[in-house]
Amino acid sequence: MSSIKLTKRQEEIVQIVKEDGPITGEQIAEKLKLTRATLRPDLAILTMAGSLEARPRVGYFFNKDSERLFEPTEFLNLKVNDYKGHPIVVQKSSSVYDAIVQMFLEDVGTLYVVDSESCLAGVISRKDLLRAAIGNKNLEDLPVSVIMTRMPNIIKVNPEETLVQAAKKLVTNRIDSLPVVRELKHKPNSYEVIGRITKTTITKVYLEIAEQKSV
Ligand code: ADP
Repeated sequence: MSSIKLTKRQEEIVQIVKEDGPITGEQIAEKLKLTRATLRPDLAILTMAGSLEARPRVGYFFNKDSERLFEPTEFLNLKVNDYKGHPIVVQKSSSVYDAIVQMFLEDVGTLYVVDSESCLAGVISRKDLLRAAIGNKNLEDLPVSVIMTRMPNIIKVNPEETLVQAAKKLVTNRIDSLPVVRELKHKPNSYEVIGRITKTTITKVYLEIAEQKSV
């Protein structure tokens, strides 16, 4: 992977090799009206950076994979909607005990709490459940609505926002997950939960781009 800025001459070399490769250093020099010696450092840089491949007695080839180099804009423009995961929701009336079971069954770190009309009412994290479990014997009788972080204090994200905006919300608010929501047209300030974005979501996308896989 490389994000080096090529000089004008290096860009010209890449262009020549793209069009005419395989081509020898001598021939590239001739086209640029330069000596082979002058080009040597540029060819070395381009080969090391992975843009060109050199084969003895054949010449330079353009490495097509190098065009999939990490472009910051690639990450900047990704939309929450394309990467959101399935949200795990519980009813406000569910018990803390059931929420703990749900968290294990679904293998998630955060549950979204919804009211009887399926609107976002709160968020429950692992630590919220641990805190409730300390000193509370009867977790089956304790509703999650008592311990959740509630609206309007929920940090949420819209499907049209970018992953970078989501990452910023996660980091600034020091939380692990964001509900992806859509505001109800007929009920302002009420939100339907349509997905989730977690720190893991962002890390996976970052890794996939870094590994040059298609994401
Ligand atoms: P944990 O508590 O397991 O470390 P978090 O860091 O995500 O997990 O949660 C920290 C606190 O922030 C918890 O009290 C949780 O209810 C709350 N919280 C988690 N996600 C959000 C969110 N999207 N909006 C508002 N509060 C949240």
